[in-house]
Amino acid sequence: MYIDAHCDSAARDIGIKSLKKMPAFHLDYERLAGQIGVQFFAFFFDEKKFGESLPGQINCSMNWLRADMERNDDLIMPLLWREQLENPLQTFGLMGIEGGAFINGSMRILDAFFQQGMRFLGLTWNYTNCIGGGALEEGGLTVFGREVVARCEELGIIVDAAHLNRQSFGDLLQTVQKPFIVSHTCCDAVHPHLRNLTDEQLRCLADKGGVAGITFARKFIGGAENMEMLGRHIAHAVNVAGIEHIGIGSDFDGTDLVYGIEGMQDWKKLDALLEKQGFKSSAREKILGDNFLRILKEILPQEE
Ligand SMILES: [Zn+2]
Repeated sequence: MYIDAHCDSAARDIGIKSLKKMPAFHLDYERLAGQIGVQFFAFFFDEKKFGESLPGQINCSMNWLRADMERNDDLIMPLLWREQLENPLQTFGLMGIEGGAFINGSMRILDAFFQQGMRFLGLTWNYTNCIGGGALEEGGLTVFGREVVARCEELGIIVDAAHLNRQSFGDLLQTVQKPFIVSHTCCDAVHPHLRNLTDEQLRCLADKGGVAGITFARKFIGGAENMEMLGRHIAHAVNVAGIEHIGIGSDFDGTDLVYGIEGMQDWKKLDALLEKQGFKSSAREKILGDNFLRILKEILPQEE
């Protein structure tokens, strides 16, 4: 089962009616169906732009996506419960939020969004919020942030550390009880960038049983920003963290992509890329989906 742990397709244009067929986007349901087992859909809205309307905007968008998937259930279904993963032939969409500013210090808001179907939470975007410090700013995980992490683990929401700064990442390691993910990142040792993980971070993530999704974002890949460079990031990450702890998080519809990938239609190039890096078939399956599948099976809630 192939899994992509990050895209912004559902938040790219709040004016669209459906994600069924969107040729101008990096992905749509028609391109996901039969190819991807689980697509993570992140809702990202700039907290400085939306301000107080942020929770309302996310709420509307999440309700829209859930209904849109249900209307197109021949192609995709919302993934809400662990038991659903027993049907490996289905394509699922997993809904979550990138940046915890909308929680605004209220655990009730977190609980309400869980009820709406939120199943992963990016603790911060690049700014610092009530939970912790984002990549572009200072600050560690707050006391409230630690409570949020504990509540996510209790409810069955996957904790995503993708945009945390280094200090908050370190604090997170001290507080997590369950595996967490870094949904879209690359390796700092291959191309230094604030959003890329250091080798030390990769090792600590693996220690906790977590998984990092290597992204197609051109600016994190660096060098010639091509497929060969993407292969180098994946190979390095596996070398440092181990084969059980690396996956893919495309960042489709969120940024400029590595040269050679123009959208979900090019996902099939990954297998050949990994083979070229010397990965055997079972290792390729782990990177392209099985590692994130393990996280989903461990963290997602069971239907009551
Ligand atoms: Zn992001």
